Amino acid sequence: MGKIYLKTDEEIELIRQSSLLVGKTLAEVAKWIEPGVSTKKLDTIAEEFIRDNGAVPGFKGYGGFPATLCASNNEAVVHGIPNDEPLKEGDVISLDCGVILNGFYGDVAYTFEVGEVAQEVHQLLEDTKECLRRAIEQAVVGKRLGDIGYAVQSYAESKGYGVVRELVGHGLGRELHEEPQVPNYGRRGQGMKLVDGMVLAIEPMINLGTRDIIQLNDGWTIVTKDRKPSAHFEHDVAVRNGKADVLSSHEEIEKVLKSKK
Ligand code: MG
Ligand code: MG
Repeated sequence: MGKIYLKTDEEIELIRQSSLLVGKTLAEVAKWIEPGVSTKKLDTIAEEFIRDNGAVPGFKGYGGFPATLCASNNEAVVHGIPNDEPLKEGDVISLDCGVILNGFYGDVAYTFEVGEVAQEVHQLLEDTKECLRRAIEQAVVGKRLGDIGYAVQSYAESKGYGVVRELVGHGLGRELHEEPQVPNYGRRGQGMKLVDGMVLAIEPMINLGTRDIIQLNDGWTIVTKDRKPSAHFEHDVAVRNGKADVLSSHEEIEKVLKSKK
């Protein structure tokens, strides 16, 4: 296992700025999400917004990824590449975005509804958000990584969902993916102890059907094996003064979504 870089208060404030910018970027993009718009268009909006704010897209070029957003619709779990396909009424689209600002990454994801979606899919999104909320509650001194994973897994599985295991949350800082890995499954009281200065990207990926996934031939897109929908929400969280300090925000996104109703 690699080194864990604990962050100073100053570094955490810089990561907060990066994380907040990602939330604002996704809020800007949210204004444009409707049937007929392509994810490529959304990607352009995101990239321009990030650069206008003096930052650099964090995913573009990362491991060869070609875009600013990961845009993963319906059965796509994560790592979808934006394309020219128009979004359709009833789709759900997970947008994951990163930026680099002042040398630090922010990394935030949100799953959006396109028009009216099926009730069970709407519920999947709500329940995945709840998984994230419960996970964050565990990101405090005295708990372990297994407590975070257990919080997600136990809630998701109690609702009959599948929890993706091959992809995990991660430490965050000067690198997009730092140690430790933050699985969305686990056992209470197991795994690494959480300490002040850890910054974690916590990101449950929850499937309506089974937990199995496969990768498409594009070398990126991860889809559910049963092709049922999947949801993904992500926050960046610092363990600070013993408590969870959520550095990112979904508030601006949700303000936009409310104003569209
Ligand atoms: Mg992300
Ligand atoms: Mg992440």
